[in-house]
Amino acid sequence: MTRILHRSIGVALPHAASAQGVYITDTMGRRYLDGSGGAAVTSVGHAHPEVLAAMRSQIDNLCYAHTSFFTTDAAEELAEKLVDLAPEGLDYVYLVSGGSEAVEAALKMARQYFVEINQPQRRHIIARRQSYHGNTIGALATGGNAMRRQQFQPILPETHHVSPCYAYRDKGIDETPEAYAARLADELEAKILELGPDEVMAFVAEPVVGATLGAVASEADYFKRVRAICDKYGVLLILDEVMCGMGRTGTVFACEQDGVTPDIVTIAKGLGGGYQPIGAVMLSASIYASFANGSGLFQHGHTYLGHPVAAAAANKVVEIIARPETLANVNAMGARLQSGLEAALGAFPYVGDIRGRGLFRGIEIVADRESKVPFDPARKLHAKIKRQAMARGLVSYPMGGTIDGINGDHILLAPPYIIEASEIDLIIERIAESIDAAIAE
Ligand code: PMP
Repeated sequence: MTRILHRSIGVALPHAASAQGVYITDTMGRRYLDGSGGAAVTSVGHAHPEVLAAMRSQIDNLCYAHTSFFTTDAAEELAEKLVDLAPEGLDYVYLVSGGSEAVEAALKMARQYFVEINQPQRRHIIARRQSYHGNTIGALATGGNAMRRQQFQPILPETHHVSPCYAYRDKGIDETPEAYAARLADELEAKILELGPDEVMAFVAEPVVGATLGAVASEADYFKRVRAICDKYGVLLILDEVMCGMGRTGTVFACEQDGVTPDIVTIAKGLGGGYQPIGAVMLSASIYASFANGSGLFQHGHTYLGHPVAAAAANKVVEIIARPETLANVNAMGARLQSGLEAALGAFPYVGDIRGRGLFRGIEIVADRESKVPFDPARKLHAKIKRQAMARGLVSYPMGGTIDGINGDHILLAPPYIIEASEIDLIIERIAESIDAAIAE
């Protein structure tokens, strides 16, 4: 009997009791290898002594002071650190409590920026199909995940969607990655022209798609082309790195690998690393200046903005992520995960694609490899894989259902950055067994 409205009602969940490193232990004493960091949250591992010490020290001094009245050393230091690590041009930070809040704030920043610079007619948001930007109304409207939006559609503000960069399904056999990227950029440009170039506010995209497709990175110079089109029409580029940022893909910011700097970037999950709920929006100096020289106010705010204990935890998490040995391990273990999955699953008739960057890897399951036809969503294969993996002591992040006409089952693997080779091998072994067992069910 539970009094909690869990996401899946009637599904008995183990009670997590403690966690250390890459393992979570339940109240029955069972140990689970955290192969997905929850939902790509656990970045520096569980119970990292340095993070715990930083939080304790903050708790002993100050737990809360409202940001209308005070700032704190913890928040100021975190902002400084993030700006130091970010691609040049992202000079200011707005601290929130999670990913959806970060996306909401980013959208409002974009809107207020255009009001401040006397372009109040700019209001359209363009994002991509098969994307996820959060569950609050504005973020949900921005995302293109049909399944998550479905029943809320009538109350969502209008947004517009173009194709994601999803080579496995959409790139023509004879099309080069460059030609594919150019085709997608043309589609974005056509959408801007259709809506009216001086009425479009922002283009929003995840550099590596997470919660909808399982670690799909872009091809060739896709984001450089997108950046050029945004610049051509004065549209802001908002990159959502809530899931793929903070070292997850092997660089602190995922967009570093795409060679672009957005006007606004959102981060969350790995930033708090599971220690505290925290997210952040980073913005360009020109957006900041438009507020500072205009109304002198960003017309937004939540009670727990810049929470000092969350900021203190994130400060230490970011410091650990930025250490060269941490990112080196993300890259080495990420490569091991990719090649190990290819070796273990490459011959499975129902594994269509294995992909990703760093410790952000996805497996796409198909009923037939040749035609790429997915399994019938009614089979709920992703839910079976999740259950089979849990029974084998592995936390993974399978997702599925009907998504914009593509019925797909995907598995996201995103273990903590401190993972070791033997643990990577265990993830591979357990996920291969789980896929097999789920299909046999
Ligand atoms: N954006 C992206 C890219 C995400 O993956 C998520 C969460 N999966 C969110 C936003 C929303 O974050 P949160 O769940 O912390 O609100």
